[in-house]
Amino acid sequence: MNNIEAFERATSVLVGGVDSPVRAWKGVGGTPLSFVGGRGAYLEDVEGKRYVDYVGSWGPLIVGHSHPQVVRAICERAQRGISFGAPSPLETELAETIRRTFPSMEKIRFVTSGTEATMTALRLARGATGRSLVVKFAGCYHGHHDGMLVSSGSGSLTLGQPDSAGVPQEVARCTAVVPYNDREAVKALFNEKGQDIAAVIVEPWAGNMGLVPPLPGFLEELRNLTAGHGALLIFDEVITGFRPSEGGVQQKAAIRPDLTCLGKIIGGGLPVGAVGGRAEVMDQLAPLGPVYQAGTLAGNPLAMAAGLATLEILASPGIREKLEDQATFFAQGLAEAARSCNLPLSVTRLGSVLGLFFSSSVPRNLDEVRATEGSLYPLFFHAMARRGHLFAPSPFEATFVSLAHDRSILENTLGAALEVFPELAER
Ligand code: PMP
Repeated sequence: MNNIEAFERATSVLVGGVDSPVRAWKGVGGTPLSFVGGRGAYLEDVEGKRYVDYVGSWGPLIVGHSHPQVVRAICERAQRGISFGAPSPLETELAETIRRTFPSMEKIRFVTSGTEATMTALRLARGATGRSLVVKFAGCYHGHHDGMLVSSGSGSLTLGQPDSAGVPQEVARCTAVVPYNDREAVKALFNEKGQDIAAVIVEPWAGNMGLVPPLPGFLEELRNLTAGHGALLIFDEVITGFRPSEGGVQQKAAIRPDLTCLGKIIGGGLPVGAVGGRAEVMDQLAPLGPVYQAGTLAGNPLAMAAGLATLEILASPGIREKLEDQATFFAQGLAEAARSCNLPLSVTRLGSVLGLFFSSSVPRNLDEVRATEGSLYPLFFHAMARRGHLFAPSPFEATFVSLAHDRSILENTLGAALEVFPELAER
C-alpha cells in the first residue's frame, strides 16, 4: 500500500481521513503521509521510507520515538494490569515527581488530554471565584472545548476557522480575547471588567502560532493584574512543561501561577493531561468540593508509567545539557543557513522547541505572525519532506527537537535546508 492508497482508504471511513484536523496537511497541501513506525528521531511511512521527524507527536516525544526505557516501562506495566479505574501508587508517584519541579502545583488531578486539563482549570477558576468571564490571547490554543475556540491557534488557525460552528454566542461571550503581549489591552480590560474576570489563561510562550516569546514584563503584568483583581492566573504549559527545564516557563520566569495545565511530555506519548495549583483552589474539585470533573481512564497506569520513565530520562545527569546543545546547534544552524542565502528567517527557541518564521523580525502577536511570509512555508515543508526531513504540516506549529536528534542527524537536515533555502529566497 502506498501513501495515497492508505489515505484514500482512511477518508472513506475517517472524517477527512484523520482524527485531528492539522494532520490533513491543509496548511501545506498534498496527501498526508501515513506512518507505521517510529524509532529515535525517525518515522517510517507505509512505503518504508524514513523521515527525520521534527513533529515528535506534537511535543510529547522529547526523548524520541520508542525510547527503550519508555517502551520497557509500558510493557512491564501492561503485564500487571492495563487499567484499574481505582487509585494506584503510580498516579501518586507521577504527581509527586511533577510537584518537585512545579511547586505551584500543590495538588494535582490527572486527566486524559490537554483539552480536559484547561477545561477543568477554567471550570475550577469559575467555581472558585463565582465569576464567568475568562481572558485568553489571540493565537493561543488551549484545546477544543467551546469557550476556548475563540481566536484560537493551531489547527483552527491553519484551517482559517478561528471560531468553530457549534459554539453558542452565549458561551463565546464568556471569553474575552486580547492580543498576545499587549499589556495595555489587558490592563484596560481589567479596569473595565475586573470584577467579572474569573481567570486569565495564557501559554507563557505561545506555541500554537509558531513559537512566540513573551515580551519582558508581560507575564509579570498578568500576575499582578490577576492578583490585584481577585482573578486566577492559569499557565497552559501543555507544550512548555518540561521543555526548557524541569520546571517549565514558570520556573524560568520565576512566576507562580494559581493553576497550571500540563500534558504531552508527562505522558511520554500516551494520552494524558494534568491540572494542578494552589491547594485551596484544587480542593474545590469533586469529591472534596462542588466543581465536578471525572474520567474513566484518568491516571491510566500505562500513561503514568510512560510519563514517569520519560521524566526519569530527562532528569538523568547531562541530558538537559545535551538537549539544549542539540537544539541550540539546530536553531543557530537554520538561522545561519538562511542568512547565507539572503532568506529572511527568524528562529525562536525555548529549550528544545523552535519557532520558524519567514520574516526578518520575531513576531510578537497573531497579527504579526500572519504578516510573515507564510506562503513560503508549504514550499519549505514539501522540499524538506522530499529530502526526508519532516516538519509540522502547518506554518503555525512549532518544531520539536528530541534527545534522539544527534548532531549528525541535525547536520544532515541543515544540509538539506542549505539546498532548499536558495529556492525560497528567489520567490
Ligand atoms: N494547550 C496547549 C498549549 C496545546 O498546545 C494543546 C494541544 N496542542 C492543548 C492545550 C490541547 O491538548 P490536547 O490536544 O491533548 O487536547
